[in-house]
Amino acid sequence: MNKPLILIVEDEGTISHFMASMLASNGYRSVKAESGKEALAMAASYMPDLLLLDLGLPDMDGIEALKALRLWTDKPVIVVSARGHEREKVEALDLGADDYITKPFGTSELLARIRTALRHSQATGAKEAPGAFAVGDLRIDLEKRVVSLSGREVHFTPIEYRLLVLLSRHAGKVLTHDFIIREIWGPYANESQALRVNMANIRRKIEANPAEPRYILTEIGVGYRMAEEYTGC
Ligand code: CA
Repeated sequence: MNKPLILIVEDEGTISHFMASMLASNGYRSVKAESGKEALAMAASYMPDLLLLDLGLPDMDGIEALKALRLWTDKPVIVVSARGHEREKVEALDLGADDYITKPFGTSELLARIRTALRHSQATGAKEAPGAFAVGDLRIDLEKRVVSLSGREVHFTPIEYRLLVLLSRHAGKVLTHDFIIREIWGPYANESQALRVNMANIRRKIEANPAEPRYILTEIGVGYRMAEEYTGC
């Protein structure tokens, strides 16, 4: 199988160098662009399998580059953003970015984002939805509509169940508050409060310590992410 090709769009040499060597040692090929213009040209000529897009570029806003890309390609884009720029992350996700990572990030975090984005992009439309989802001791049987924790059935309200299924379908990927609310309550809903309450109830039922969730992670100011792997502490 061909190694996936990743386009690194980053003007800071130390970061792009770190990314490139980390990708090379983990089975990926990469090419580098240092500006928005160069990124758009290289995306078209190399047709990478995934893009890592820094939002702070010298010649144009990374958001503008993302918009231009999304006119013609649906390849996964992971935006690289500075800490605290939650609005920018949400905007990028709404404009079709697949995920984001916040500087400074570690190797395992970046690799996990890349694996998830590539897997979701390859899975779309290819095969049927799986009949079950499992992570750690949590199991969702999508055919029987039964959720169990360590083999014991846990009961959820219909809304809670739909939230769990939605998050599990996108496991590993961040979902914005707006996206979740649209999917569960419809396009004109304003249910931030209901979302918070339902998530708190779900966590009470599945998390050993709801204040430090390990199945459904909070992305502050952005949304929620279902864990793909359960990491013991
Ligand atoms: Ca930058």
